[in-house]
Amino acid sequence: MAGKQARTLAQGRSYLAIPGPSVMPDAVLRAMHRASPNIYNGELVEMTHGLIPDLCKVARTRHQAAIYIGNGHAAWEAALSNTVAPGETVLVPASGRFAMGWAEMAEGIGAQARILDFGRTNGWDIARIADVLHADTAHQIKAVLAVHVDTSSSIRNDIRALRAVLDELDHPALLMADCIASMGCDRFEMDAWGVDVAVTASQKGLMVPPGLGFVFFNPKAEDRRRSLPRVSRYWDWAPRANPEAYFQYFAGTAPTHHLYGLRVALDMILEEGMEHVWARHAVLAQAIWAASEAWGQGGSFALNVSRPELRSHAVTALKLDSPDGTRLRSWVERHLGLTLGIGLGMASDGDPAGDGVFRFGHMGHVNGQMIMGLLGGVQTGLTALDIPHGGGAIEAAARVLAQHDSTD
Ligand SMILES: *Cc1c(COP(=O)(O)O)cnc(C)c1O
Repeated sequence: MAGKQARTLAQGRSYLAIPGPSVMPDAVLRAMHRASPNIYNGELVEMTHGLIPDLCKVARTRHQAAIYIGNGHAAWEAALSNTVAPGETVLVPASGRFAMGWAEMAEGIGAQARILDFGRTNGWDIARIADVLHADTAHQIKAVLAVHVDTSSSIRNDIRALRAVLDELDHPALLMADCIASMGCDRFEMDAWGVDVAVTASQKGLMVPPGLGFVFFNPKAEDRRRSLPRVSRYWDWAPRANPEAYFQYFAGTAPTHHLYGLRVALDMILEEGMEHVWARHAVLAQAIWAASEAWGQGGSFALNVSRPELRSHAVTALKLDSPDGTRLRSWVERHLGLTLGIGLGMASDGDPAGDGVFRFGHMGHVNGQMIMGLLGGVQTGLTALDIPHGGGAIEAAARVLAQHDSTD
């Protein structure tokens, strides 16, 4: 790689601006760079006990948490394995590829996934979801799988509106939220929003390498787990959340070094404060939208989600005429050391290979200068490749950041 880039401007610290894995703080990496600890007693064991309440603070829940050695897909399967029996039905309102992925996971454990596909540019149609739940008078739907931020489309859905529908209809289905992209970036309040089960993973807003999945669950979900005829031993959240012996936290050997990294990441997040973490992501996202809208004034550059209230603060999906999305990604990576996200699950009839779609990841350990660097890199790529675009994008983003009152 070094040889290939020897005559470009890519030397220096590379920047992976994709929606996970996210940029990791040096302090997290330093904490992981150490000799293996004793896994039977002492410091690691003490530290692990302390992680659980802090994870719950980030998820905004008073209830329980289980940690899995695995990625987001593992957390999906873990949540389903404790709540849904083979043959039961789950409802999946979808606004992107990740909702489809969770639905497929449900089918994999023998459930029937009823998908309501709302496309990739609009959020959920709550009225349509309500109609389906209303018609389910026999309460065959046992859970609603709700992806908070769908990382493929960058749509952020309204979890509270879904809770309100379930409450209005007095429907007993569990409300299960995928917060893998959103936790630690977009506001999410598990208890206040009435979420029964929330899942996330380590490598996005939590700023730790891929390898840990987290499932948060409340007493209603716990009751559901108890009523199942069986739960696979490995995915069972009960011993993980209430271990009698240390190894039960992880159903085996602890993910030692990930835990050290997670400890530091949680310290950083809680020291900044959840409200500030969310506000920082909101302002940085607004800078990205302002630049993108300016680029869109000339040429094909466009945000995938046109309504700002449906846009995530963690990831932004963008479009150019195909194949300019892929050309832009390749150019900024090769020439500037900046890697943008691919268009995932966003291929269309007019763009079967998805070469018009790309994404910015802006989750976790990102600040103003990084976002300006990202936008400056994209501006450079658009210029170098002669891709038509509107002017004033960098100024537009700068105005957003300059106007932000960061003294509070
Ligand atoms: C990243 C992501 C996943 C999948 O996580 P993996 O760690 O890749 O398995 C699922 N859902 C959402 C919303 C995501 O952003």
